[in-house]
Amino acid sequence: SKDIKVALVTGGNRGIGYELVKQLALKGFKVILASRDPEMGHEAAQKLKESNLDVSFLVMDVDNQESIRQAAITVNEQYERLDVLINNAGVYLDENEKLLTIEPSILEGTMTTNFFGAYHVIRSFIPIMEKHGYGRIINVSSEYGAIGEMSYQGVGAYKLSKLALNGLTQLLAAEINGDIKINAVCPGWVSTNMGGPSAPRTPKQAADSILWLATIGPEGHSGRFFRDGKQIPW
Ligand code: NDP
Repeated sequence: SKDIKVALVTGGNRGIGYELVKQLALKGFKVILASRDPEMGHEAAQKLKESNLDVSFLVMDVDNQESIRQAAITVNEQYERLDVLINNAGVYLDENEKLLTIEPSILEGTMTTNFFGAYHVIRSFIPIMEKHGYGRIINVSSEYGAIGEMSYQGVGAYKLSKLALNGLTQLLAAEINGDIKINAVCPGWVSTNMGGPSAPRTPKQAADSILWLATIGPEGHSGRFFRDGKQIPW
């Protein structure tokens, strides 16, 4: 059982994150479903365990550095390894406002979760990957964060947060040593709380378009941005 790979998904209690947890478990990973809400996280993990999937729950609020630090300590002690880390937790707080008139707390809150959340999670968990010199980090981003999409009004906070997350992906790829890859991926427009009911993609389709990055080999890409398995422009 020492050879079983361990994966962690932030915001794993619902939406795309929940489906990522499920599909990783079906692929044979031991999966840690991280959630900021203990009850929702526990309930989501329980549902998957009932289908005989190897899923356990861990509380982690990515807005809270102490919560992240504690979660990393727990993973280090209980699993002693982390093969796959998916920064999926995210918020979309914009209400069609321009950046100059938006409530500043909307921009700050969006950056806190979507950008700093991923940054602090990576920072706290990468030492566990470095112990084994292996890891696959996936940042769930959005094409809204592409430079070419910056002219649209009304979604400024979300766009900036994903632009920053994309930049972080490139910078960290150049810093990280060993067989540790970090990539950003756009899941498309997905039917979740965030995506809304008219979104054309199911969470399962989104998870499939993301999870190939969890098992890329040593020659695989790092510091890139993908959608549906194809590299897309930053
Ligand atoms: P949902 O709103 O359905 O789910 C968001 C998840 O993130 C929830 O589990 C939520 O937890 C969690 N979360 C939010 N803030 C925190 C926090 N501070 N700490 C821990 N968890 C947190 O969104 P999706 O599943 O659609 O989105 C997942 C990712 O995909 C996001 O990064 C999003 O930006 C990205 N994406 C989604 C698209 C779409 O069309 N749906 C398109 C492009 C990108 P809780 O239940 O406690 O709120």
